[in-house]
Amino acid sequence: MIDLRSDTVTQPTEAMRKRMAAAAVGDDVFQDDPTVNKLEALMAEMSGKANALFVPSGTMSNLVGLLAHCQRGEEYIVGQGYHTYLYEAGGAPVLGSIVPQPVEIEPDGTLDLTKVESVIKKDDYHFARTKLLCLENTHNGKVISLDYMQKAYDFAKSKGLSVHLDGARAFNATVALGCELKDLTQYADSVSICLSKGLGAPVGSVLCGDKDTIKWARRWRKMVGGGMRQAGVLAAAGIYALENHVERLARDHAKAKVLAERLAEIPQLEVKPELVQTNMVFIRSDKAVAAHLADYLLQKGIRIIPGETMRWVLHLDIKQEHVDYISDQVKAFFN
Ligand SMILES: *Cc1c(COP(=O)(O)O)cnc(C)c1O
Repeated sequence: MIDLRSDTVTQPTEAMRKRMAAAAVGDDVFQDDPTVNKLEALMAEMSGKANALFVPSGTMSNLVGLLAHCQRGEEYIVGQGYHTYLYEAGGAPVLGSIVPQPVEIEPDGTLDLTKVESVIKKDDYHFARTKLLCLENTHNGKVISLDYMQKAYDFAKSKGLSVHLDGARAFNATVALGCELKDLTQYADSVSICLSKGLGAPVGSVLCGDKDTIKWARRWRKMVGGGMRQAGVLAAAGIYALENHVERLARDHAKAKVLAERLAEIPQLEVKPELVQTNMVFIRSDKAVAAHLADYLLQKGIRIIPGETMRWVLHLDIKQEHVDYISDQVKAFFN
Protein backbone atom coordinates (compact mmCIF):
# COMPACT_ATOMS: atom_id res chain seq x y z
CA MET A 1 0.00 0.00 0.00
CA ILE A 2 1.15 3.52 -0.83
CA ASP A 3 -0.48 5.56 1.93
CA LEU A 4 -0.76 9.29 1.26
CA ARG A 5 -3.21 10.04 4.08
CA SER A 6 -0.58 11.27 6.53
CA ASP A 7 3.07 11.10 7.53
CA THR A 8 1.92 9.35 10.72
CA VAL A 9 1.38 6.05 8.87
CA THR A 10 5.06 5.12 8.54
CA GLN A 11 6.36 1.75 9.72
CA PRO A 12 9.41 1.70 11.98
CA THR A 13 12.40 0.60 9.89
CA GLU A 14 14.38 -2.57 10.65
CA ALA A 15 17.28 -0.53 12.03
CA MET A 16 14.89 1.44 14.25
CA ARG A 17 13.29 -1.76 15.56
CA LYS A 18 16.75 -3.12 16.42
CA ARG A 19 17.54 -0.02 18.47
CA MET A 20 14.17 -0.32 20.22
CA ALA A 21 14.75 -3.98 21.05
CA ALA A 22 18.21 -3.27 22.45
CA ALA A 23 17.24 -0.18 24.49
CA ALA A 24 18.28 0.01 28.13
CA VAL A 25 15.17 0.81 30.17
CA GLY A 26 14.02 1.75 33.67
CA ASP A 27 10.95 3.27 35.30
CA ASP A 28 10.53 6.70 33.72
CA VAL A 29 8.02 7.89 36.32
CA PHE A 30 10.98 7.62 38.73
CA GLN A 31 13.04 9.30 35.96
CA ASP A 32 15.11 6.11 35.95
CA ASP A 33 14.91 5.24 32.27
CA PRO A 34 18.34 5.94 30.76
CA THR A 35 17.04 5.96 27.18
CA VAL A 36 14.22 8.41 27.93
CA ASN A 37 16.70 10.59 29.82
CA LYS A 38 19.01 10.47 26.82
CA LEU A 39 16.23 11.44 24.41
CA GLU A 40 15.16 14.32 26.66
CA ALA A 41 18.76 15.57 26.98
CA LEU A 42 19.23 15.33 23.21
CA MET A 43 16.03 17.25 22.46
CA ALA A 44 16.83 19.89 25.09
CA GLU A 45 20.21 20.40 23.47
CA MET A 46 18.86 20.50 19.92
CA SER A 47 16.14 23.00 20.86
CA GLY A 48 18.46 25.13 23.00
CA LYS A 49 16.19 24.72 26.04
CA ALA A 50 17.10 23.72 29.58
CA ASN A 51 14.82 20.70 29.72
CA ALA A 52 12.57 18.36 27.76
CA LEU A 53 9.79 15.90 28.48
CA PHE A 54 8.89 12.76 26.52
CA VAL A 55 5.12 12.29 26.12
CA PRO A 56 2.96 9.79 24.24
CA SER A 57 1.50 12.20 21.67
CA GLY A 58 1.64 15.68 20.22
CA THR A 59 -1.80 16.36 21.62
CA MET A 60 -0.59 15.63 25.14
CA SER A 61 2.60 17.59 24.57
CA ASN A 62 0.61 20.67 23.56
CA LEU A 63 -1.85 20.18 26.42
CA VAL A 64 0.77 19.95 29.15
CA GLY A 65 2.69 22.79 27.51
CA LEU A 66 -0.34 25.10 27.47
CA LEU A 67 -1.18 24.18 31.05
CA ALA A 68 2.38 24.87 32.15
CA HIS A 69 1.94 28.46 30.93
CA CYS A 70 -1.70 29.18 31.80
CA GLN A 71 -3.55 28.67 35.08
CA ARG A 72 -7.31 28.15 35.38
CA GLY A 73 -9.14 31.19 33.97
CA GLU A 74 -6.19 32.37 31.91
CA GLU A 75 -6.22 32.70 28.15
CA TYR A 76 -4.15 31.63 25.16
CA ILE A 77 -4.37 33.29 21.75
CA VAL A 78 -4.28 30.78 18.91
CA GLY A 79 -5.00 30.42 15.19
CA GLN A 80 -8.56 29.39 14.35
CA GLY A 81 -7.32 26.38 12.39
CA TYR A 82 -4.25 25.57 14.50
CA HIS A 83 -4.07 22.11 16.03
CA THR A 84 -4.05 23.53 19.58
CA TYR A 85 -7.46 25.08 18.95
CA LEU A 86 -9.26 22.86 16.46
CA TYR A 87 -7.88 19.33 16.56
CA GLU A 88 -7.29 18.47 20.21
CA ALA A 89 -10.89 17.76 21.19
CA GLY A 90 -11.05 20.95 23.22
CA GLY A 91 -8.57 19.51 25.73
CA ALA A 92 -7.11 22.77 27.00
CA PRO A 93 -10.47 24.32 28.02
CA VAL A 94 -12.11 21.03 29.01
CA LEU A 95 -9.27 19.51 31.04
CA GLY A 96 -7.35 22.64 31.95
CA SER A 97 -10.08 25.28 32.37
CA ILE A 98 -8.05 27.69 30.26
CA VAL A 99 -9.65 29.90 27.65
CA PRO A 100 -8.76 29.80 23.96
CA GLN A 101 -9.05 33.06 22.01
CA PRO A 102 -8.92 32.07 18.33
CA VAL A 103 -7.74 34.47 15.63
CA GLU A 104 -8.19 33.96 11.91
CA ILE A 105 -5.05 32.60 10.20
CA GLU A 106 -3.38 34.54 7.35
CA PRO A 107 -2.89 32.75 3.99
CA ASP A 108 0.81 32.18 4.80
CA GLY A 109 -0.06 30.34 8.02
CA THR A 110 0.90 33.17 10.40
CA LEU A 111 -1.25 35.27 12.71
CA ASP A 112 -1.52 38.99 11.98
CA LEU A 113 0.00 40.59 15.08
CA THR A 114 -2.36 43.59 14.82
CA LYS A 115 -5.27 41.15 15.12
CA VAL A 116 -3.51 39.39 17.99
CA GLU A 117 -3.04 42.73 19.74
CA SER A 118 -6.71 43.58 19.34
CA VAL A 119 -7.80 40.49 21.33
CA ILE A 120 -5.34 40.85 24.22
CA LYS A 121 -7.52 41.57 27.24
CA LYS A 122 -6.85 44.50 29.50
CA ASP A 123 -6.55 43.90 33.22
CA ASP A 124 -10.21 43.92 34.17
CA TYR A 125 -12.03 41.30 36.21
CA HIS A 126 -14.61 40.86 33.47
CA PHE A 127 -12.01 39.20 31.30
CA ALA A 128 -9.87 36.11 31.27
CA ARG A 129 -6.20 37.00 31.75
CA THR A 130 -4.27 36.77 28.48
CA LYS A 131 -1.09 34.80 29.10
CA LEU A 132 0.13 33.02 26.00
CA LEU A 133 0.50 33.25 22.25
CA CYS A 134 0.38 29.87 20.55
CA LEU A 135 1.94 29.48 17.09
CA GLU A 136 2.31 26.54 14.70
CA ASN A 137 5.21 25.74 12.35
CA THR A 138 4.77 24.17 9.86
CA HIS A 139 1.07 24.91 9.40
CA ASN A 140 -0.65 22.89 6.63
CA GLY A 141 2.79 22.25 5.16
CA LYS A 142 3.63 25.97 5.12
CA VAL A 143 6.88 27.13 6.66
CA ILE A 144 6.69 30.16 8.93
CA SER A 145 9.82 32.30 8.45
CA LEU A 146 12.38 33.01 11.16
CA ASP A 147 11.73 36.69 10.54
CA TYR A 148 8.06 36.31 11.46
CA MET A 149 8.90 34.07 14.43
CA GLN A 150 11.20 36.77 15.79
CA LYS A 151 8.63 39.52 15.24
CA ALA A 152 5.91 37.49 16.94
CA TYR A 153 8.20 36.60 19.86
CA ASP A 154 9.33 40.19 20.39
CA PHE A 155 5.72 41.35 20.14
CA ALA A 156 4.57 38.76 22.71
CA LYS A 157 7.36 39.76 25.10
CA SER A 158 6.44 43.44 24.74
CA LYS A 159 2.93 42.48 25.89
CA GLY A 160 4.12 40.26 28.74
CA LEU A 161 2.99 37.05 27.01
CA SER A 162 4.78 33.72 26.73
CA VAL A 163 5.01 31.88 23.39
CA HIS A 164 4.29 28.20 22.82
CA LEU A 165 5.21 26.73 19.45
CA ASP A 166 3.34 23.71 18.16
CA GLY A 167 6.27 22.38 16.18
CA ALA A 168 4.78 18.98 15.43
CA ARG A 169 6.65 19.27 12.12
CA ALA A 170 9.32 21.75 13.26
CA PHE A 171 12.03 19.69 11.53
CA ASN A 172 10.21 19.99 8.21
CA ALA A 173 10.42 23.74 8.80
CA THR A 174 14.13 23.77 9.72
CA VAL A 175 15.08 21.52 6.80
CA ALA A 176 13.15 23.80 4.42
CA LEU A 177 14.70 26.91 6.00
CA GLY A 178 18.18 25.35 6.10
CA CYS A 179 18.62 26.21 9.79
CA GLU A 180 19.17 24.43 13.10
CA LEU A 181 16.26 23.61 15.38
CA LYS A 182 17.46 26.12 17.97
CA ASP A 183 17.45 28.92 15.37
CA LEU A 184 13.69 28.40 15.24
CA THR A 185 12.96 27.51 18.86
CA GLN A 186 14.80 30.54 20.24
CA TYR A 187 11.58 32.40 19.37
CA ALA A 188 9.40 30.28 21.67
CA ASP A 189 9.38 29.65 25.41
CA SER A 190 8.20 26.10 24.82
CA VAL A 191 8.00 23.89 21.77
CA SER A 192 6.26 20.59 21.10
CA ILE A 193 7.84 18.30 18.52
CA CYS A 194 6.39 15.05 17.12
CA LEU A 195 8.69 12.08 16.61
CA SER A 196 5.90 10.09 14.98
CA LYS A 197 5.23 12.25 11.90
CA GLY A 198 7.88 12.72 9.22
CA LEU A 199 10.62 11.47 11.56
CA GLY A 200 9.09 8.01 11.38
CA ALA A 201 9.05 6.89 15.04
CA PRO A 202 6.02 4.79 16.01
CA VAL A 203 5.02 6.86 19.07
CA GLY A 204 5.95 9.98 20.92
CA SER A 205 6.45 13.70 21.13
CA VAL A 206 8.79 15.87 23.15
CA LEU A 207 8.04 19.15 24.90
CA CYS A 208 11.06 21.42 25.35
CA GLY A 209 11.25 24.46 27.60
CA ASP A 210 12.87 25.98 30.65
CA LYS A 211 13.18 24.13 33.95
CA ASP A 212 10.01 25.50 35.48
CA THR A 213 7.85 24.90 32.41
CA ILE A 214 8.98 21.27 32.20
CA LYS A 215 8.49 20.77 35.93
CA TRP A 216 4.87 21.87 35.58
CA ALA A 217 4.42 19.89 32.38
CA ARG A 218 5.69 16.74 34.14
CA ARG A 219 3.04 17.19 36.84
CA TRP A 220 0.30 17.66 34.22
CA ARG A 221 1.59 14.68 32.26
CA LYS A 222 1.21 12.52 35.36
CA MET A 223 -2.30 13.87 35.95
CA VAL A 224 -3.53 13.08 32.44
CA GLY A 225 -2.07 9.59 32.55
CA GLY A 226 0.98 10.13 30.38
CA GLY A 227 3.55 8.89 32.89
CA MET A 228 5.00 5.82 31.21
CA ARG A 229 7.23 3.21 32.80
CA GLN A 230 9.83 1.37 30.65
CA ALA A 231 9.33 3.93 27.91
CA GLY A 232 12.93 3.67 26.74
CA VAL A 233 11.78 1.16 24.13
CA LEU A 234 9.86 4.03 22.53
CA ALA A 235 12.43 6.73 23.25
CA ALA A 236 15.05 4.61 21.45
CA ALA A 237 13.00 4.93 18.27
CA GLY A 238 12.93 8.69 18.79
CA ILE A 239 16.70 8.92 19.24
CA TYR A 240 17.21 6.81 16.14
CA ALA A 241 14.84 9.10 14.21
CA LEU A 242 16.65 12.25 15.36
CA GLU A 243 19.99 10.76 14.32
CA ASN A 244 18.90 9.34 10.98
CA HIS A 245 15.64 10.81 9.73
CA VAL A 246 15.97 14.58 9.97
CA GLU A 247 18.05 15.48 6.92
CA ARG A 248 16.17 13.00 4.77
CA LEU A 249 13.00 15.11 5.18
CA ALA A 250 14.39 17.15 2.28
CA ARG A 251 13.69 14.12 0.09
CA ASP A 252 10.03 14.09 1.15
CA HIS A 253 9.83 17.78 0.25
CA ALA A 254 11.38 17.11 -3.16
CA LYS A 255 8.98 14.21 -3.81
CA ALA A 256 6.02 16.43 -2.88
CA LYS A 257 7.18 19.06 -5.34
CA VAL A 258 7.56 16.53 -8.18
CA LEU A 259 4.19 14.95 -7.43
CA ALA A 260 2.54 18.40 -7.41
CA GLU A 261 4.13 19.25 -10.75
CA ARG A 262 2.88 16.01 -12.32
CA LEU A 263 -0.64 16.44 -10.91
CA ALA A 264 -0.76 20.06 -12.09
CA GLU A 265 -0.72 18.70 -15.67
CA ILE A 266 -4.19 17.22 -15.07
CA PRO A 267 -6.89 19.76 -16.03
CA GLN A 268 -9.53 18.26 -13.68
CA LEU A 269 -7.33 18.95 -10.64
CA GLU A 270 -6.26 22.26 -9.19
CA VAL A 271 -2.75 21.96 -7.82
CA LYS A 272 -0.23 24.75 -7.20
CA PRO A 273 3.29 23.27 -7.17
CA GLU A 274 4.75 26.70 -6.41
CA LEU A 275 2.96 26.59 -3.03
CA VAL A 276 4.52 23.27 -1.99
CA GLN A 277 7.08 24.09 0.70
CA THR A 278 7.43 20.82 2.61
CA ASN A 279 5.91 17.33 2.43
CA MET A 280 2.27 18.14 1.66
CA VAL A 281 0.43 18.60 -1.60
CA PHE A 282 -2.99 20.23 -1.54
CA ILE A 283 -5.35 19.30 -4.38
CA ARG A 284 -8.72 20.79 -5.17
CA SER A 285 -11.25 18.97 -7.28
CA ASP A 286 -14.91 18.19 -7.57
CA LYS A 287 -16.02 16.30 -4.45
CA ALA A 288 -17.75 13.44 -6.27
CA VAL A 289 -14.82 13.06 -8.66
CA ALA A 290 -12.44 12.88 -5.69
CA ALA A 291 -14.54 10.10 -4.14
CA HIS A 292 -14.35 8.07 -7.39
CA LEU A 293 -10.64 8.79 -7.65
CA ALA A 294 -10.10 7.49 -4.09
CA ASP A 295 -11.95 4.23 -4.93
CA TYR A 296 -9.96 3.83 -8.13
CA LEU A 297 -6.61 4.50 -6.47
CA LEU A 298 -7.39 2.08 -3.63
CA GLN A 299 -7.68 -0.71 -6.21
CA LYS A 300 -4.24 0.32 -7.43
CA GLY A 301 -2.80 0.16 -3.92
CA ILE A 302 -2.87 3.91 -3.18
CA ARG A 303 -4.74 5.35 -0.21
CA ILE A 304 -5.96 8.93 -0.06
CA ILE A 305 -8.63 10.77 1.90
CA PRO A 306 -11.11 12.13 -0.67
CA GLY A 307 -12.59 15.62 -0.44
CA GLU A 308 -13.01 18.94 -2.18
CA THR A 309 -9.60 19.91 -0.86
CA MET A 310 -7.32 16.92 -0.41
CA ARG A 311 -4.02 16.75 1.43
CA TRP A 312 -1.58 14.17 0.12
CA VAL A 313 1.39 13.67 2.42
CA LEU A 314 4.82 12.36 1.41
CA HIS A 315 6.96 10.42 3.89
CA LEU A 316 9.60 7.80 4.60
CA ASP A 317 7.66 4.89 3.11
CA ILE A 318 6.96 6.59 -0.23
CA LYS A 319 9.86 6.16 -2.60
CA GLN A 320 10.73 8.20 -5.67
CA GLU A 321 9.44 5.45 -7.98
CA HIS A 322 6.12 5.52 -6.11
CA VAL A 323 5.73 9.16 -7.12
CA ASP A 324 5.86 8.11 -10.79
CA TYR A 325 3.40 5.29 -10.10
CA ILE A 326 0.99 7.61 -8.25
CA SER A 327 0.94 10.27 -10.97
CA ASP A 328 0.58 7.60 -13.69
CA GLN A 329 -2.41 6.07 -11.90
CA VAL A 330 -4.09 9.44 -11.38
CA LYS A 331 -3.59 10.25 -15.07
CA ALA A 332 -4.96 6.82 -16.03
CA PHE A 333 -8.09 7.54 -13.97
CA PHE A 334 -8.77 10.83 -15.75
CA ASN A 335 -8.08 9.29 -19.18
C1 LIG B 1 -0.22 15.77 14.50
C2 LIG B 1 -0.18 17.13 15.09
C3 LIG B 1 -0.28 17.32 16.46
C4 LIG B 1 -0.64 16.21 17.44
O1 LIG B 1 0.00 15.05 17.33
P1 LIG B 1 -0.62 13.65 17.81
O2 LIG B 1 0.62 12.90 18.13
O3 LIG B 1 -1.38 13.14 16.65
O4 LIG B 1 -1.47 13.88 19.01
C5 LIG B 1 -0.19 18.60 16.95
N1 LIG B 1 0.00 19.64 16.13
C6 LIG B 1 0.10 19.51 14.81
C7 LIG B 1 0.31 20.72 13.95
C8 LIG B 1 0.02 18.25 14.23
O5 LIG B 1 0.11 18.11 12.92
